Amino acid sequence: MGQRIGILGGTFDPIHVGHLVAAVNARHALGLDRVIMMVANIPWQKADSRTVSSAADRLALVEAAVGGVEGVEAGSMEIERGGESYTADTLAELHSNQPDDELFLIIGWDVAPALATWDRYEEVQKLATLVVVNRPGSLPPSQLAQLGWRVLEVTVPNLEISSSDLRARAAQGRPLDYLVPAAGVRCIRARGMYAGGG
Ligand code: ATP
Ligand code: MG
Repeated sequence: MGQRIGILGGTFDPIHVGHLVAAVNARHALGLDRVIMMVANIPWQKADSRTVSSAADRLALVEAAVGGVEGVEAGSMEIERGGESYTADTLAELHSNQPDDELFLIIGWDVAPALATWDRYEEVQKLATLVVVNRPGSLPPSQLAQLGWRVLEVTVPNLEISSSDLRARAAQGRPLDYLVPAAGVRCIRARGMYAGGG
């Protein structure tokens, strides 16, 4: 019997409670066996515009943050593959490793408008059901089904929080406590990430 696997991909620079609340609520709503927080190696749509923390630091942070939460885990497949990270490759690899698993790609509202710009997005459409969660500051996506996606919506608590905001907070010396799980904050401090903020 295959499993129902959620994949929530991101740069996670840093991971925060918005990501984790989305993951556990999608898992609960859809009866997923587990949700993989898939850490992008090189997020090609972001890499040019700012400096991204090292993949090793971001993975360590995600591993720390998910510790102890049942059914949520860190995914290192994109880092192990190296190079720029493409969801089409990740889903293909998951599918070829476990062909009986059913894959659910979890994204926030803000990501939906860019889906058509993803590399080989038709392959993504074939390999996964899209799960869209609400996110403050973004409009609900429309017409995804007409564009060929198998799509489900999951309502999650509205958490107005982003990694960009957290990086700015840390740079100003403001606390990240409770916005990032405690083990994650410890990891940020230990690794001196975000100017040692947090
Ligand atoms: P950045 O500000 O650097 O873009 P981010 O907070 O948007 O960071 P990402 O790594 O870009 O985090 O997002 C990964 C995924 O998590 C995306 O699908 C995004 O929509 C979703 N997500 C991020 N924050 C939230 C939130 N507060 N509520 C719901 N979904 C979220
Ligand atoms: Mg983002």
